[in-house]
Formats: sequence, C-alpha cells, structure tokens
Amino acid sequence: MSAPLLEARQLSLDIGGKTVVDRLNLNLQPGERLAILGRNGAGKSTLLSTLAGLRPPQAGAVLLDGEDCTLLPPRQAALRRAWLGQFQNDPFGSTVLETALTGRHPHLGRWAWESKRDAELARGALQALGLAGMETRQVHTLSGGERQRLAIATLLTQAATLYLLDEPLSHLDLNHQMAVLELFAGTARDCGAGVVMVLHDPALAHRFCDRALLVYGDGRCEQGTVDTILTAKTLSELYGYGLRQIEDRGQRCFIPE
Ligand code: ADP
Ligand code: MG
Repeated sequence: MSAPLLEARQLSLDIGGKTVVDRLNLNLQPGERLAILGRNGAGKSTLLSTLAGLRPPQAGAVLLDGEDCTLLPPRQAALRRAWLGQFQNDPFGSTVLETALTGRHPHLGRWAWESKRDAELARGALQALGLAGMETRQVHTLSGGERQRLAIATLLTQAATLYLLDEPLSHLDLNHQMAVLELFAGTARDCGAGVVMVLHDPALAHRFCDRALLVYGDGRCEQGTVDTILTAKTLSELYGYGLRQIEDRGQRCFIPE
C-alpha cells in the first residue's frame, strides 16, 4: 500500500507559550477531505502551516508521501502540497493573470519563462473561480472576495496533490462558498487529491468532508468521521456555546440555542 499523502506522527506544537496539539497522529489518503474546526486562537492556522512544512514542530514529524517534509527542498514540497494562507499580501503591483501564474513557478526550470500551456492552466483556473475577463486587472483593485478567489485560482494552477486551505471560504458569498467546496470535492473525487480545510461552518464541514479534526486550544484534539464527530454535543463543547442538531435529507445543520 502506498504512503498517505499527508501524515503527522506524534506531532506536538506550542505557540506563544500554549500547547496547540500534543502528540497528534493524523493521516490523509488520496481523495480524502478533512475539516479542521476550533475556536479563534485555538491554533488551527499554526497546525495547518506546520502540516505544510512552513513551521517546525516542537516534536514529531510531518510526512508528505512518506517523506519527512523538513528534508524536502521547497520546490519539491510545492509540487506536492499547495497551501492557502489566511491572509493575502500584495506588496508589489501585479495583474490577476500574473498572480495566478505564480502557481506555476515550482514547475518551471530556474531560468524558464511561463509557457503557453502554463498560461492556459492559469486562465482555466481563473475561469473556474469566476474571474474570467479580469486577467489584466491589478490585484489591489479586487474586492476581498475576488482576491480570495484569485488566491484559490493560484493554488489550482499549482496543481499539487495535497491542498491545505486555511479558511478558504473567508470573504466569499454563499454562491462562491458552495462553488469552491464543490470544486475541491471534484478535485478530490476525480484527481485523487487530498484536501485539508479550516472551516467555521460545521454544517458545511459535515456535507463536504469525510473526517473532521476538532482543535480545543489546550492541546486536546479529537478526530473521526464527520457523522460521528460533528454532533451537537462535541461542537457545543468545542465552541463553548450550546447547539441543536437538525437532520434534513442526509444533511446536518446546527442551530445556536
Ligand atoms: P487560529 O487559526 O485557530 O485562530 P492561530 O494558529 O492563528 O489560531 O493562533 C494560535 C494562538 O497563538 C493565538 O492565541 C495567537 O494569538 C497566538 N499566536 C499566533 N502567532 C503568534 C506569535 N508569533 N507569537 C505568539 N503568539 C502567537
Ligand atoms: Mg487561523
């Protein structure tokens, strides 16, 4: 059997003097989607950036395709995993198309320019995110939701097998939230990609993910299939707010009490 796309072994993480996770074991197989949920400040972004190999853990290891991610050169890591950070910085002027094309950089030789094929991939990703026709716009003129969709389009042009998405739905209206979740569901189903996403809506996590990891912010974590772990009981404890659970045609909703 081949190695999982992503594996965390006995992973322990501290930040600002607090323990985020303590000896966490986790793995993700091709085609699987995992949601990470927790309160503000629980350590979700810290965990996700560690899973991306961007932050060293206090103990334990992160493996991409069975290889310790700290031993992978950045380009090799970028060919395997694509990371969507929670915030987008645009220190330099650049157009929408130029920004999407940066997703191809790990695929290019040191002195190579983007090819016609790279431009086609970038344009296809922009179209998939509803940004066709905006290729020549400057990024700083985009709305928050448009900028977020451009960040996701850039990730798609990277064409990795593992997507690590920190709050991919932030700034998106309902229509675009569903489109983005459907898109990654299709990428997982049709291309065997693995997807880990930090989400704040447990109903969407239940509908669009196979498993969920709850991060309590004091080192405790719980994981399981969405059916078993996303319940009113666990989520009320996770968020410190009472929730009621409703089932409707196989979908699960949570209503604040
Ligand atoms: P989440 O994504 O779950 O909202 P983060 O992973 O961003 O949480 O942050 C976890 C905790 O660590 C928060 O309390 C945050 O304030 C703190 N934190 C984040 N970065 C630093 C840092 N560089 N130094 C000290 N504390 C930090
Ligand atoms: Mg965060």
